[in-house]
Amino acid sequence: MTKIQLLDSRLANQIAAGEVVERPASVLKELLENALDAGSESITVDVEQGGVKLVRVRDNGSGIDRDDLPLALSRHATSKIRGLDDLEAIGTLGFRGEALAAISSVSRLTLASNVEGEAEGWQVQVEGRDMAPSVTPAGHPRGTTVTMRDLFFNTPARRRFLRTEKTEFNHLEEVFRRIALSEFNTAFRLTHNQKVIHQLPAGLDDTLRAARVAKLCGKGFMEQAIPVDVERDGIRLHGWMGLPTFSRSQADLQYFYVNGRVIRDKVVSHAVRQAYADVLYHGRHPAYVLFLELDPAQVDVNVHPTKHEVRFREQRMVHGFLYSSLHRAIAEVRPGQSLAASV
Ligand code: ADP
Ligand code: MG
Repeated sequence: MTKIQLLDSRLANQIAAGEVVERPASVLKELLENALDAGSESITVDVEQGGVKLVRVRDNGSGIDRDDLPLALSRHATSKIRGLDDLEAIGTLGFRGEALAAISSVSRLTLASNVEGEAEGWQVQVEGRDMAPSVTPAGHPRGTTVTMRDLFFNTPARRRFLRTEKTEFNHLEEVFRRIALSEFNTAFRLTHNQKVIHQLPAGLDDTLRAARVAKLCGKGFMEQAIPVDVERDGIRLHGWMGLPTFSRSQADLQYFYVNGRVIRDKVVSHAVRQAYADVLYHGRHPAYVLFLELDPAQVDVNVHPTKHEVRFREQRMVHGFLYSSLHRAIAEVRPGQSLAASV
């Protein structure tokens, strides 16, 4: 008798789900990324009980073909890359084809969609165990709605790690904030237990963009932030950096995006810290919302399943560009002015 056995696909999915789905907030992250990858102009998120009972994301993006619906829930099924070449320069937020498979293995999930041009939409429904979904008609306008209910209903051990409704909602709202800051051309709305928490119109001009940042990061930040927009050799850095007068005791208002993807990176944090080094007291942290745009071939995003980490091909060049752009922006604001802005 052999001792080694292949895991059945449900168990394999559940194990893999551990990497992708930690809590309701991780579900929301994946669903929002999919909605953005589908080119949605408007995204609505409804959450109940901190997301444990319900996370529903509705978008008006490209939709999923009827025949693709069951496939979308299979592991390693993606429409975003085809071969190794595509991995060299990723232009979408997703590409691993794991999220929907993982989420559907630990929750009750409905995927309803409509591709433009078809009379009505279609949906598939799965409840953890049964992984052979059947396709049924669904009245759905163009776009996709993913409804996730009862997270970890079939994995009690994982469910026990969930915190209070308030804590889970805070994590969820943070994910919403990060992603809503990443795509100003898309309108977002978030409700929790039927109450509207955020309603953000598409920000097509500077005023609307600034208004969105103020809503998500607080008026105080925007009143004490300087806009940055620097471009050099095909790399662009833009966004807002908080004045030293708006420094914080924690690094809790730091949003850095690389080609629309929020990331944490040592090279980036080091460059930013250095740029602020002369103007911040020890132990204080700067606040910023910054966007770096560069050739996708210059960044490797396939470092970690949640894709929060990236690797720059030319780290020193990126470091130098960030440091000099931010340092100059800070130096240009005279101390008197920054004080005035804080009163
Ligand atoms: P990935 O995003 O890495 O491709 P997912 O499991 O998140 O993997 O999604 C699988 C596939 O389902 C996607 O490649 C896409 O084709 C389709 N899909 C998922 N969500 C949406 C959506 N909101 N709109 C359109 N297509 C979607
Ligand atoms: Mg995805």
